[in-house]
Amino acid sequence: MRELLDGITAGLHQVIAQADEPVPLHEPEFGAEELALVADCIETGWVSSAGRYVEAFEQNLAAACDVSNAVAVVNGTAALQVALIVGGVRPGDEVLVPALTFVATANAVCHAGAAPHFVDSEAVGGGVDPVALQTHLSRVALVKGGECYNRETGRRIACVVPMHLFGHPADMTGISEVANRWGIVIVEDAAEALGSRLNGKSMGSYGKLASLSFNGNKIITTGGGGAILTDDNMLAKRAKHLTTTAKVPHAWAFEHDEISFNFRLPNLNAALGVAQLAKLETRLDKKRRLALRYAKVFQDVEGVAMFQPPPGATSNYWLNALVLEPEYASSRDELLNELNKTGFMVRPAWTLMSRLSMFDSSPRAPLNVAEDLERRIICLPSSAHLADQS
Ligand SMILES: *Cc1c(COP(=O)(O)O)cnc(C)c1O
Repeated sequence: MRELLDGITAGLHQVIAQADEPVPLHEPEFGAEELALVADCIETGWVSSAGRYVEAFEQNLAAACDVSNAVAVVNGTAALQVALIVGGVRPGDEVLVPALTFVATANAVCHAGAAPHFVDSEAVGGGVDPVALQTHLSRVALVKGGECYNRETGRRIACVVPMHLFGHPADMTGISEVANRWGIVIVEDAAEALGSRLNGKSMGSYGKLASLSFNGNKIITTGGGGAILTDDNMLAKRAKHLTTTAKVPHAWAFEHDEISFNFRLPNLNAALGVAQLAKLETRLDKKRRLALRYAKVFQDVEGVAMFQPPPGATSNYWLNALVLEPEYASSRDELLNELNKTGFMVRPAWTLMSRLSMFDSSPRAPLNVAEDLERRIICLPSSAHLADQS
């Protein structure tokens, strides 16, 4: 353990010129452009639910993600909730989600009135494993009238939510084949994957809909924010309507035609987003350089490997992570303790959804790979500006 700890510490010191302050896991970065656009909102008074930056942000986002439409909302959780609803998830349905994800994925399913059903991940890249998914569905599901049902719970399995772990694309080709075979809709949780691509195509453009997050720790930030992506103009229109109080357009009357949400992204946050999004390519460039530097340093450290994206994928490397060799899994917490004491804010993967108390009775597939990955992952400081340090 001592030797491994020394190896990891030395590696981190090679990549990061450490200041007196602890090195955060992921920091937002701003410049004069952000300040100018936010100041413009304040000076003109357009800080809230109307203003020109929301539309600009949506258009630029859609273009950046290879989709026809983006609908900006308050956060990624709300984006996923609405994407699921618009994608056809109804109260009482089940939605397949990876056990190895941030809690927001499962929460959004519940907020849509459905129940999460946990599935396993791939060892490489950590996305939903299509082979394991097919095996699991063969065991528990049946197709009736073109729709998929869980034979054990009797509930409809409406949707699968692939999540692109740390920015590494899930196998969307494999997942699509399985989903099509069973009549299941795909909604991507692309919160971590803005700018990632698979076979040249942007993550967030594979599903019927997708959600993004612009929380402070994501690849770009609007303070807090999210977006729904889709190529389907009707679904986009419906998502916009549902997230903006379902107001019927009229010069002066307040007429609303369904129970809806106030999930709109304020203009102030959208202004920040416009400035941040303009820097996406340079940001991605830095993130990829940082990942290369980590890979180079850690290739010679015994006992660990970099957690890599699958073949054919271009990751945004949102978070760089080490995977411990199996024999060191039991030392993970000790390593986390020591490294944090040294001033590197390294973190484990999330506690698996299947082990959170509120999901105790949720249906699940065998989760061997997710459980194994969870025990062995250590996330490293990954702020873009670290690319140019040492
Ligand atoms: C960040 C994140 C979200 C959404 O987060 P918000 O804080 O609601 O914007 C959803 N899923 C995953 C996997 C995430 O990492």
